Order: sequence, then C-alpha cells, then structure tokens
Amino acid sequence: MPKRQEQRHPEPRRQKPADFAPRLLAWFAANRRDLPWRRTRDPWAIWVSEVMLQQTRVEAVREPYRRFLQQFPTPSAFAAASDDELLSAWRGLGYYRRARLLRDGARKVASDHGGAIPRSVEALGELPGIGAYTRGAVASIAFGHAEPAIDGNVERVLARHRALRGDPKNGAVQREIRKVVLGWIDAQRAGDFNQAVMELGATVCTPTSPACDRCPIAEDCRARREGLTAVLPERKAPRAAVLVTARVALILGPRGAVGGRIPEGEPNHGQIELPGAGILQDTAEHELAEVLRQRFAARIQVGGTVANVRHAITHHRITLHAHSASLQALGQLAWFPLDDQTPWTTPSRKVFRAALGTSGDLRA
Ligand code: SF4
Repeated sequence: MPKRQEQRHPEPRRQKPADFAPRLLAWFAANRRDLPWRRTRDPWAIWVSEVMLQQTRVEAVREPYRRFLQQFPTPSAFAAASDDELLSAWRGLGYYRRARLLRDGARKVASDHGGAIPRSVEALGELPGIGAYTRGAVASIAFGHAEPAIDGNVERVLARHRALRGDPKNGAVQREIRKVVLGWIDAQRAGDFNQAVMELGATVCTPTSPACDRCPIAEDCRARREGLTAVLPERKAPRAAVLVTARVALILGPRGAVGGRIPEGEPNHGQIELPGAGILQDTAEHELAEVLRQRFAARIQVGGTVANVRHAITHHRITLHAHSASLQALGQLAWFPLDDQTPWTTPSRKVFRAALGTSGDLRA
C-alpha cells in the first residue's frame, strides 16, 4: 500500500492570529519612541507631522515641526501664510510641494469647515493634499477611527508576516494589505495599533536586517518561518541614478549674496538659488558666464571654484561647483540677505556653509 502523503494545510491568508493586536500593542507600550507628535491628539499637529515625516527622517523633522507649529498653530494661521513664509517655515525639510499641498488643505479647512479639521474619514479624504495614508493616520490617531494608515513600514511588516508576493505598491498587493489591517486592527485603539505597526517596521522589521529575535509577532510570521525575510517585500528595482554636474556663481557682498527666484515649473519654484543653469542641468565651466547672460541678462565674470557640494533630488545625484565671480550687471538677479528667513535652496545653503565655513544663520 502506498504511503499516505502528509497533507499540508496552508494557513489562510488573512487568518487573524488570536492575540496579534494585544502582542503588538504591549510591545508598543514598552518600546515606543518618545516623539513630540506622539504627545498630542490635535489633528492639525498630527497632520503636519505626518506630512513632514514623508520622505524625511524622524530626527530631521523634530526642529522644523516645533518651529512650524509655533508659527502656524492652526490650519487657519497656515492658510494665510505667504509663499515666502511657507518656504521659510519648511526650510530643512525639502520636497516643498508637500508644504504647498498642506497649505491648500489648510485653506480648504479654513474656507469650508470654519477652521476645524473635519472628523469623518470621508471629509478628511476630500481635503487637498491628504492621501490614503495621511487620512488614515489623522483619522485613527486624532479621532480614533478604525482606519488603516499604510506607509512603507506597514507594507514591509505585512508583506513579511503574511508572505505576500509582489510589489506592495502594486494595486492588488495594496488591497490585500489593507484587508489584512482592516481585519486585524484593534478598533478601540486604532491609532496606537497603526503606530505600533509603523514603529515595528521602523525599528525591528527594518528593510535589510529585521531583528526577528526581538519581534513580538515572530511566532506566526510566515516570512520568518519560510526563510523569506531577505526577499520580501518584492519591490521594483529603483530607478538608476542620474549624475549631474551643475555650476553656480557665488557673489558675496554687504547685502548678502546674488541670487535668482526659481520660476514656476522648476523644482523648488519660488525659492532663491545661486545663479546657474538650474540644479538639474549639467554645465561646463566655460559655459557658465554665457548661461547667466542668457538666463538672467546678467554680466558676470566667472573665476575658479570655491566650494564643491553634493546634493540628491529623487534619483539625481548632483555635484554642485560654486565659482567665485565678479558682478558687472545684475540683470534680473538681485541681492538677498544670508539669513534664516530668506528661502535659499538647500544646495545654496550647502554652498554658503562650505565657502564661508559657518552654519550660523544658514542652517539647511
Ligand atoms: S519576525 Fe522578522 S520578518 Fe517577521 S515581522 Fe517580525 S521582524 Fe519582520
């Protein structure tokens, strides 16, 4: 008689381990980092922090978050901010489009909701600049709705724990992750549950070296059991880096430095940058004076390099050479002070620090 084959009963995909949420919440209570935005239920403060934390490290957000809320404690206050106030308040964070979208959202709150952030998930989702993640974070943390907040950390934890194949950015995988979270979320403590999964992804289930031995959900993690932690999640290969060699003229004087306002349609528009062809444009040394003449009707004699800095914008890896220069005609350029309020771009601030050897008022 043939030997009976042992039947394997694969675990259903969304089966909820009985004590998943309690284990996770107990771990979070003992291990949560003490972050300023975790000390409040104010929906505006939570919204601001969530927008700042997108594509920016926690440590880089602390000081801008404090400064921003001091200057703009309510949506109505930020709704009235000028472009220069917005750029100055957002300095150090980059990706200024986020700040403009946040102001669009604040303006909608001021005009349509009397300045109070709406409590319903649907109304939150209708605010400009609030995507599914931010909506879930504000709805759950500030208002206690059982709404998932799925960021890259949550995607990684769930893709591993459920051994989900495919890129988590893919629609079908996204929907699967959302279903799992919706099924497992602790409806009484939705904000803590969402933050606990995010915290686990940020501090334990990290991209390259998950610390499974101190993970509270390790015993039913399928990636761990099946030896898949190194291959999940299956993300698309990142775009190849594009190398750029950009050049600017550095002209300093008693009134500050010569700069130009970045026009609409270019990255970081509205900010002030040292004059050149633009941060994403390759420029040869011998071309710079002619570029400045054509772009700004300025006459500038260009000398040798005085500072070289590196900067990254999305997949662009930029080497920026700053040249000493003497001014003959400003054209459409102008003098701008070297202070904290003038919205100099981050690469320009890096040049000032490198050339002047000071951080002083020029913190990026
Ligand atoms: S056991 Fe390891 S892979 Fe699984 S969720 Fe925990 S840290 Fe991530």
